[in-house]
Amino acid sequence: MKTMSLAANLPGRWLEITDVPVIEPGRGEVLVRVAVCGVCRTDLHIVEGDIGATPSGLVPGHEAVGTVIRTGEGVNLLRTGDRVGVPWLHSTCGLCEFCTTGRENLCRLKTFTGYTVNGGYAEYLLAREDFTVPIAPGLSFRHAAPLLCSGIIGYRALKLVRPAPGGTLGIFGFGSSAHITLQIASALGYDVRVVSRHAQHLKLAMQLGATQAIQATESNEDAFLTRGKMDAAIVFAPSGSVVRLALESVKAGGSVAVPAIHMNAISITDYEKHLFHEKRLFSVEANTRADAHEFMRLAARTRVRSVIKEFRLEDANAALSELKAGEINGSAVLLIT
Ligand SMILES: [Zn+2]
Ligand SMILES: [Zn+2]
Repeated sequence: MKTMSLAANLPGRWLEITDVPVIEPGRGEVLVRVAVCGVCRTDLHIVEGDIGATPSGLVPGHEAVGTVIRTGEGVNLLRTGDRVGVPWLHSTCGLCEFCTTGRENLCRLKTFTGYTVNGGYAEYLLAREDFTVPIAPGLSFRHAAPLLCSGIIGYRALKLVRPAPGGTLGIFGFGSSAHITLQIASALGYDVRVVSRHAQHLKLAMQLGATQAIQATESNEDAFLTRGKMDAAIVFAPSGSVVRLALESVKAGGSVAVPAIHMNAISITDYEKHLFHEKRLFSVEANTRADAHEFMRLAARTRVRSVIKEFRLEDANAALSELKAGEINGSAVLLIT
């Protein structure tokens, strides 16, 4: 099978095409023929070595969707032909203090698709049956793929900050995860305001239901502060200075979530402005399977529509480069089989 796997790590040429044998599914595993795999910012962190060294030959990709073509021993829930998504969380231990208290996203022994095990930048991948999610019959694979990480992580961030019904939510940075989270939040009745540096991202935000789109510029990055304080905010831009602005932008008792696996330094310089009055700051680490299933049902019910830019598997480097440059409006996806 064809894969795009980690190569010599030259700038912009992180991955190379390889031909490797398909591995048969083991106990509890399924072999999935990958139709489409989304390209997530975490993939960029992985190929650039931001979150630790990864072995050459690793296949990234954790927004894989496709069809089960073989099932291993002990597989009970899935059958050949089932449409499934394979998300970031590949496995957990099931026994530790976190797994046994509904917090398996914090399991110390968890493994990740496309990071600790090979992922979806490939024609086939192996997944644990109990960590896959079903893809609703009416949803196309190419529009489903970005829901798998971008969607689920944004949903977990929204659950953590949980503004009161009808409240205001600020979204800082408007990429793949943000454009899906905006749709979910507005379907749930929140007043969603989007702050971004990019005019084309703000245009998309207004089309997808934002009530305000506010352009932040170098000299005027806190322009939104004059528009009144918000109940909660989610910071998708991987920048510590934006986190500080978001904390300033929420009301007393407000919460800010940061669904990022990697972030530059956050300096809280003014306790009164940024943290006092019981403001709360959450990081978001991966997701539980419950988050994934809840979100996929909610996305189907609310008819979330991801906006995608399509690439061939062979062009994964180009997709990652465009993502790095902020040139993707919505989500990048690789069309594979
Ligand atoms: Zn565990
Ligand atoms: Zn991701």
